[in-house]
Amino acid sequence: MKHKPNKKVKVNRIPERGFYDSETIYKIVDEALYCHISFIQDGQPFIIPTIHARINDRLVFHGAKASRLLKQISSGKEISVAITILDELVLARSVFHHSMNYRSVVIFGKGEPIKNKNEKLKALEAITNHIIPGRWNDARKPNDKELNATSVVSLKINEASAKIRTGPPKDDEEDYDLPVWAGVIPLSKKFEQPKEDSKLKPEFLLPDYISNLIKSKF
Ligand SMILES: Cc1cc2nc3c(=O)[nH]c(=O)nc-3n(C[C@H](O)[C@H](O)[C@H](O)COP(=O)(O)OP(=O)(O)OC[C@H]3O[C@@H](n4cnc5c(N)ncnc54)[C@H](O)[C@@H]3O)c2cc1C
Repeated sequence: MKHKPNKKVKVNRIPERGFYDSETIYKIVDEALYCHISFIQDGQPFIIPTIHARINDRLVFHGAKASRLLKQISSGKEISVAITILDELVLARSVFHHSMNYRSVVIFGKGEPIKNKNEKLKALEAITNHIIPGRWNDARKPNDKELNATSVVSLKINEASAKIRTGPPKDDEEDYDLPVWAGVIPLSKKFEQPKEDSKLKPEFLLPDYISNLIKSKF
């Protein structure tokens, strides 16, 4: 779905880097492991990192009922969410034109608490599988006490923008003759060999969904 950019989400600074279609936005949202949520409490802006997951056109978040973050975002006030994936360092000939290649998303909206038990479980399943696909079916599900202690909040991905920078440094024409190395340094992110918990029973071998994950790059 194409979101028509309103004034709030329209990328003004280098507008050709702005995208508003669901496909581009969802791909970045799904690849990033965590996000930052901002809100204003008593006139003070806060920005707090947390885990997210996407269910169709909604983001879902979870946390302790007692958490300030969860209380604030479930109260229905305006919040914004930023998601960033860093792909490359961009080294220009001049300090001025140094940059980064990235894919990022900014989303605005109002959080809505999820109270229905089945919907809450679905959101927690999405969050668990966002951390590592397949984990929900393997690990013990939350019991009623844990569910009661957990708040789950959703946010419709309606007002959203993606911004993407790719490519080489953009130097000033007169700087291309400078004796300075220039280019990009790709940054790859991968998981390393898992370290077993010291209390792991020796009969429990590493499941396939974990060994597949560490073989993959993300
Ligand atoms: C890893 C990284 C490093 C960066 N480093 C710098 C830096 O050093 N200096 C710098 O000036 N900028 C940097 N940027 C770009 C920065 O995020 C802003 O896009 C830029 O500063 C313009 O901000 P603005 O509020 O003036 O944008 P405007 O274009 O006025 O913002 C209008 C709307 O566009 C959308 N938008 C703006 N930026 C983004 C974004 N990054 N992702 C998704 N939507 C966006 C939002 O919906 C926003 O409300 C970086 C971005 C990333 C991801």
